[in-house]
Amino acid sequence: MNQRRMGVIILIILSLLLTSPMYFTVHGFSDVDAATSPDTIIHNGDILTMEQSPAQVEAIAIQGESIHAIGNESNILAMAGPDTRIIDLEGRTLLPGFIDSHSHWISGRHWTGWEGERQPETLEEAIESALRGGWTSVTEHAVREDFLDELRTLDQEDRLPFRVSAYLTLSQQGENLGDWYLAYEPGQEFSSKLRIGGVKIFMDDWVTTFHHYLNQSELDTLVHEAHNAGFQISIHSVVDNATDIVLNALESALDGESNDLYRHRIEHLVLLRNDQIERMSSLGIIASIQFLWFTSDVVDYYQYPIYQEYSHILARWRDIVEAGMPSIGNTDYPYTMWYNGSAIEAVSWSVTRIGALGLTPTDWMLNQTLTVEQALRLITINAAYGLCQEDIIGSIKVGKLADLVVLSDNPLTVPEDSLEDIDVLLTMIGGKIEYTKEGSGLPGDVTPPPLWTILLPPTLVILPLATIMVFMIRKNRC
Ligand SMILES: [Zn+2]
Repeated sequence: MNQRRMGVIILIILSLLLTSPMYFTVHGFSDVDAATSPDTIIHNGDILTMEQSPAQVEAIAIQGESIHAIGNESNILAMAGPDTRIIDLEGRTLLPGFIDSHSHWISGRHWTGWEGERQPETLEEAIESALRGGWTSVTEHAVREDFLDELRTLDQEDRLPFRVSAYLTLSQQGENLGDWYLAYEPGQEFSSKLRIGGVKIFMDDWVTTFHHYLNQSELDTLVHEAHNAGFQISIHSVVDNATDIVLNALESALDGESNDLYRHRIEHLVLLRNDQIERMSSLGIIASIQFLWFTSDVVDYYQYPIYQEYSHILARWRDIVEAGMPSIGNTDYPYTMWYNGSAIEAVSWSVTRIGALGLTPTDWMLNQTLTVEQALRLITINAAYGLCQEDIIGSIKVGKLADLVVLSDNPLTVPEDSLEDIDVLLTMIGGKIEYTKEGSGLPGDVTPPPLWTILLPPTLVILPLATIMVFMIRKNRC
């Protein structure tokens, strides 16, 4: 091999070594100090804060677990340092992470459905389903002592990627579980991922049985004890005459104090009269409603005559949200038929009342649909209030935790009938990416890049050099 040929080969190798880092380095270098610059900047899309003002911003900066700055794109991008990861939304939408304020993601994983239509999930599958659905905070809404121990073990083993608020069971199907919960503090935090949310009491059964598990004095005793110990109380009450008993108990426990201090809440409220809506509004009792329960498909499937008979006071989601009482929305996962776990699907069903099978909703359903904005608030900022965590989650605000989701489109601007097509592309919890949809091209996407994007840059260098080489070799032969 002659010297010229050797030289050309060395040149090619040097060129490849130089161009590879250029290709794989996404950002240039700036003179901002790495120690004070944000870990992540997200920009170039619709960033919906779910705050009143500003409702939308151009970019956000994340430092550690928290939102460090929000504002216009040029100001935020100017904060970038050499180690800042820049996430370009490319026109897609960023929202605060969704909060499933009444759910059973972990304890319900073994459940196979009312008709055995569901596959049990492993713990990892259940967690993955929630993350894929955009849920960054969930509740476990009936936690007995042994299950709390299981949750604490999972937490210690660092196996809870999302935030879990546990609601400790006081009384279920009439079985009084005693005062075991008093060993814990209201709102007690075991870690940033596991805390005590409050206590749970089952007042009645379901709308088909009208069965009460507790009478007024039994409920009063439970409520007063938990209230006096400072716990938030969450009461399962489906039928209106059970809710009368619940409201009596809560009103007497509050004794004129504002419920804003305690956040007591009623779950389900399937049958609810006008006078009860007024009473809940004036007491400030939180209404916890299940977006997915009264869609066209589910109602059609069960064909309970009671749904027709009581349709004037059935599943009054719009009346509840518009009456002015604090209201929160959730899935009660997995206890919802044909639901795939996506927060956006939950929003879609509450807005259209059309479920997975696409049947046409009846008038009483259509009279109680929510707007997209109402539904989004119910699973973000309102849900955070329902967990007494509105200071740290539920909106995009400086100082709050960086719990965020990237959606493929903006739910506030797409037509309502295409809401269901919106995908959750990325789920971030405390600044850490916990889920990325394959093919999204966002950080964490494990899909291999197209071959041409890998081959093109070196080819651009090799081709001219090879031409020169061939030219030189030919010249040597002369
Ligand atoms: Zn439940």
